Amino acid sequence: MKCWKTWAPLKQEIRAIEAALKRIEEGEYGYCVKCGAEIGQDRLDLIPWTPFCRDCAA
Ligand SMILES: [Zn+2]
Repeated sequence: MKCWKTWAPLKQEIRAIEAALKRIEEGEYGYCVKCGAEIGQDRLDLIPWTPFCRDCAA
Protein backbone atom coordinates (compact mmCIF):
# COMPACT_ATOMS: atom_id res chain seq x y z
CA MET A 1 0.00 0.00 0.00
CA LYS A 2 1.45 3.29 -1.10
CA CYS A 3 0.50 5.45 1.83
CA TRP A 4 2.16 3.11 4.32
CA LYS A 5 5.52 4.06 2.82
CA THR A 6 4.61 7.71 3.13
CA TRP A 7 3.81 7.27 6.81
CA ALA A 8 6.84 5.23 7.80
CA PRO A 9 9.30 8.14 8.18
CA LEU A 10 6.66 10.12 10.02
CA LYS A 11 6.26 7.32 12.55
CA GLN A 12 9.98 7.39 13.10
CA GLU A 13 9.81 11.13 13.68
CA ILE A 14 6.97 10.74 16.18
CA ARG A 15 9.04 8.21 18.09
CA ALA A 16 11.93 10.67 18.18
CA ILE A 17 9.61 13.40 19.46
CA GLU A 18 8.23 11.08 22.17
CA ALA A 19 11.77 10.24 23.23
CA ALA A 20 12.59 13.96 23.40
CA LEU A 21 9.54 14.59 25.60
CA LYS A 22 10.71 11.81 27.91
CA ARG A 23 14.14 13.43 28.14
CA ILE A 24 12.50 16.73 29.04
CA GLU A 25 10.70 14.94 31.91
CA GLU A 26 13.97 13.42 33.04
CA GLY A 27 15.82 16.71 32.76
CA GLU A 28 18.19 15.37 30.13
CA TYR A 29 16.82 17.26 27.18
CA GLY A 30 19.39 19.23 25.22
CA TYR A 31 22.21 16.76 25.83
CA CYS A 32 23.47 14.23 23.31
CA VAL A 33 22.40 10.67 24.22
CA LYS A 34 25.57 9.32 22.65
CA CYS A 35 28.39 11.45 24.03
CA GLY A 36 26.59 13.57 26.63
CA ALA A 37 27.69 16.85 25.10
CA GLU A 38 25.33 19.80 25.13
CA ILE A 39 23.41 20.11 21.87
CA GLY A 40 23.78 23.61 20.47
CA GLN A 41 20.77 25.89 20.57
CA ASP A 42 21.01 26.51 16.83
CA ARG A 43 20.68 22.77 16.25
CA LEU A 44 17.75 22.46 18.67
CA ASP A 45 16.03 25.32 16.87
CA LEU A 46 16.39 23.34 13.66
CA ILE A 47 15.47 19.84 14.99
CA PRO A 48 14.07 20.24 18.53
CA TRP A 49 13.70 16.46 19.06
CA THR A 50 17.18 15.43 17.95
CA PRO A 51 18.88 13.10 20.42
CA PHE A 52 22.34 13.70 18.97
CA CYS A 53 24.77 16.58 18.93
CA ARG A 54 26.12 17.80 15.61
CA ASP A 55 29.20 15.55 15.80
CA CYS A 56 27.28 12.35 16.59
CA ALA A 57 24.57 12.99 13.99
CA ALA A 58 27.12 13.43 11.23
ZN1 LIG B 1 27.28 13.63 20.73
